[in-house]
Formats: sequence, C-alpha cells, structure tokens
Amino acid sequence: MLLIECPWCGPRAETEFSCGGEADIVRPLDSDKLTDKEWGDYLFMRKNPRGVHHEQWLHTQGCRRWFKARRDTVSYEIQGYETFERPLLSTDNTDAGAQGKAQEGKAS
Ligand SMILES: [Zn+2]
Repeated sequence: MLLIECPWCGPRAETEFSCGGEADIVRPLDSDKLTDKEWGDYLFMRKNPRGVHHEQWLHTQGCRRWFKARRDTVSYEIQGYETFERPLLSTDNTDAGAQGKAQEGKAS
C-alpha cells in the first residue's frame, strides 16, 4: 500500500484516495472543429509511461481536495506533490469544492 501525503492533511493510506488519472490534460478550446478521432483521443487516450508520471489524486476520505503527484510507475515512489495553484494551507472549504468540480470535468 502506498503512503500518500495530502498537501493539506499529511501522510495517509492509499485507501483514502482516488486516482484521477493523468494530470495536465488540457481540454481543446475549439471542440466543434475537432474530428471524431481527435475528440476521442482527448477523451480516452492516455500515456502509460514506464517511469516518472504526473497524476491527479483526490483525497476522497479526507479533505476532498485535488492535487497532483509525480510518481514513478516502476518503483511506485512518489517524488513530489503539487496543488492546483492554491495556497497550501487554505482553510476555505468553499474554494476546495469548486476546485474539485472543475477537476472532475477535466479528469473525465
Ligand atoms: Zn487531504
């Protein structure tokens, strides 16, 4: 089991988290102009690297905030964490909910 360090809650068991898949996938702005293949690639095609990979994680059983982790897919070692440009110690729960909704759309 992985020990994942939530930027807000600290180290917790992997079972408290949900993986949101590959991070940094940008939704195309001109989606009406995309071919079916391009739209399908955006929706479904993901990298599957052997080595360092950036992923989105949701602390489902904790603060319910999204963050990014840089993880080695061979050793499972998590090498670092990033937030979505939010203050690390923010106590404003309203912002966290809006942030999660924005990321849910991005992850699907
Ligand atoms: Zn948390």
